[in-house]
Amino acid sequence: MKANPSPWAIETLYANGVTGFDVASVPEVKIVAEHAPGARMAFMHPVKSRRAISEAYFDYGVRTFALDTHEELAKILDATGGAKDLNLMVRMAVDAEGANFSLSGKFGVDAFHAPALLMATRRATQELMGVSFHVGSQCMRPTAYQAAMAQVSRSLVRAGVFADVVDVGGGFPSVYPGMIPPDMDDYFAAIERGFNEMPVSETTELWCEPGRALVAESTSLLTKVELRKGDALYLNDGSYGSLFDAAHVKWPFPVKLYRGDGEDAHEVEGELKPYRFYGPTCDSLDHMPGPFWLPGDVQEGDYIEIGMMGAYGVAMSSRFNGFGDTETVEVQDAPMASMFGLARRSIPAPKTAQRSNVVRLSRPKGGKRRRK
Ligand SMILES: *Cc1c(COP(=O)(O)O)cnc(C)c1O
Repeated sequence: MKANPSPWAIETLYANGVTGFDVASVPEVKIVAEHAPGARMAFMHPVKSRRAISEAYFDYGVRTFALDTHEELAKILDATGGAKDLNLMVRMAVDAEGANFSLSGKFGVDAFHAPALLMATRRATQELMGVSFHVGSQCMRPTAYQAAMAQVSRSLVRAGVFADVVDVGGGFPSVYPGMIPPDMDDYFAAIERGFNEMPVSETTELWCEPGRALVAESTSLLTKVELRKGDALYLNDGSYGSLFDAAHVKWPFPVKLYRGDGEDAHEVEGELKPYRFYGPTCDSLDHMPGPFWLPGDVQEGDYIEIGMMGAYGVAMSSRFNGFGDTETVEVQDAPMASMFGLARRSIPAPKTAQRSNVVRLSRPKGGKRRRK
C-alpha cells in the first residue's frame, strides 16, 4: 500500500488478480476495504497502536499481524481480546546487500533474540505462524532473497519451530536510468531455491509484498518550467511534492521535454545537456540535483515529463507552502521503461511496444485544480 495508495492503483491491481494487501495503518485498511472489497489484508507494521489493532480486527476482519518483540505480541493478543484466530508474522532483521534503501534498520528481531520470539509466537496461535523480512527497496541482487531466507532458516532451526508462512517481503525492483536490474524471473528462481532449502512443511505458504515493482512504471509526472537560470530549471513540482526521492536520494528518473499546449504540444528532441531542478517551495532543500538530461534549449513554459513516478512519488507528496494541487489524467501510452513484456529494459520505451497502459499524470486531489 505505501508505494501507491491511489484508489485507481488498488482497483486496477484488484481487478487483475491481486487479492491480498499489506497495510500499515487504519487509513490504509479503509482504502482497501473501500476499493478492493473482500480482499485479504495483512497488517505488517511491527509497531501498531492498540486502537489500530482493535479497529482492524473487529471492524475490518484483519486477522494477520506482524510483530518483532514480545511486547507487541502481548499487545496484539490483548487488543484483539485474546483472539484465537490470528495469523502472526515475526518480522526478522536480515543483512541484505544490493538494495538501494535498507529496511532492516528500524524493524526486525535480530538472530540472537529471534528463537525465543519465534517459540512464543508459535505458542500464541493455532492458526498460521510465519516469518517475514524485507531485503530493502529496489533490490538489485536476486540472491539477496536466498541469503535472507538462509538467515531466517538458522533462527527457525534454533527455535525448533516450523513456519506456516514464509513472507519474502518487498524489494522487487523497477527500471531507472543507470539501474537496470536482472530479469524478474531471476528473482523468482532465487526465491524458489531459497524456499526449497528452508525447514518448512509441505503446506507452508510462500508470500511476497511487492510495492515498487507493481506500480513504478504506471505513472508519469508532467511539470511545467516556470523559469530557467542557466542549467537550473525551476519547476512547479518538487521534493515536497512527488519528487522526494529525486531530491533526497538523488534518484535518476527519466525525463522528456514537451512544448506547446493542446493540439500543438509536441516532444522536443535535440542534443542532450545536464540540468538540475528546483521545486516551487521557498525551501533550499527543494532541489533535485539530477543530472537530468534534456535538450539544450529548454525554456519557460515547456513541460517536462518525469517517468517511473508510480512508486513513492504520489504517495509522499505534501501541500507545503501552498503547492501540491494537481490534475490526474488517464492516458493510453507505454511507460517510459518496463520490467515486463515488450518494453522491458527500454529507456525510453520503443514506439513499437503495443502496450495499453494506464499512465497517470500525477495524483488525484480534491479542491482547486491547477494546470500543470
Ligand atoms: C515498503 C514495504 C514493502 C514494499 O516494498 P517495495 O520495496 O516497494 O517492494 C513491503 N513490505 C513492507 C513491510 C514494507 O514496509
